[in-house]
Amino acid sequence: MLRFLLFFFFHMCKCECFLLQRHLCFFLFFCNMCDKKTGDTFTEEQNELVESAAEMLYGLIHVRYILTGKGMAAMLEKYKNYDFGRCPRVYCCGQPCLPVGQSDIPRSSTVKIYCPKCEDIYYPRSKYQGSILLRISNFQYVDGAYFGTTFPHLFLMTYGHLKPQKPSQNYVPRIFGFKIHKP
Ligand SMILES: [Zn+2]
Repeated sequence: MLRFLLFFFFHMCKCECFLLQRHLCFFLFFCNMCDKKTGDTFTEEQNELVESAAEMLYGLIHVRYILTGKGMAAMLEKYKNYDFGRCPRVYCCGQPCLPVGQSDIPRSSTVKIYCPKCEDIYYPRSKYQGSILLRISNFQYVDGAYFGTTFPHLFLMTYGHLKPQKPSQNYVPRIFGFKIHKP
């Protein structure tokens, strides 16, 4: 059944994404190999490998899905509900954030949050930002590639009216009320 679903996805995605294609092929090959060896039962080690490959496949499918119209609409709802948290920067005044990856290569870095106001990225605060679409593990440790480097920027181009003005205030460090001289 799982393999049928994956084959279905494989054809649905039209194999445009090389990484997805490569991981899917590996996953199916591994499943077939295990089936031949041990019937339908996996050993614990095989189970771990299959689970890890399945998680990565899910992530790679996820990153493609959120760039589609349907995926964007689903993410819009979450953005409106502050599911991805707010910018921790004081002068961004609680601006809602979007998830972003620093790389499109899996296992390079964990997911970060992008603030559309100050246009910077931050570490997610796990408890606050835990109610995210991808519930495979604690948000803090979700692979950044499962959201990718493109998503927040394409999202803000698609929903241009959501792009906030840049913050007008910046923090000024002071000592005894005086601005610090910069050499
Ligand atoms: Zn900000």
